[in-house]
Amino acid sequence: MCTQIYHVYQCGCRMKGEFKQCDEKYNAETNLQCDRTNNDDVVSRNYCSKHMPKEGKATTQYVGRQANR
Ligand SMILES: [Zn+2]
Ligand SMILES: [Zn+2]
Repeated sequence: MCTQIYHVYQCGCRMKGEFKQCDEKYNAETNLQCDRTNNDDVVSRNYCSKHMPKEGKATTQYVGRQANR
């Protein structure tokens, strides 16, 4: 079964990542994907870029990994 990767961040955001065609379809050199897709979550150790202000622009800096939303 083909796999859709999702990146799960500590802030709770979930973003679509790479779509991986399975070996079976890949080796058949087809452009098809399976009817059903396996979802694979990859957990990030940090917040997504949307929830991490750029250091030059931040008005408030949190330390100790509090929620920053
Ligand atoms: Zn597949
Ligand atoms: Zn986020």
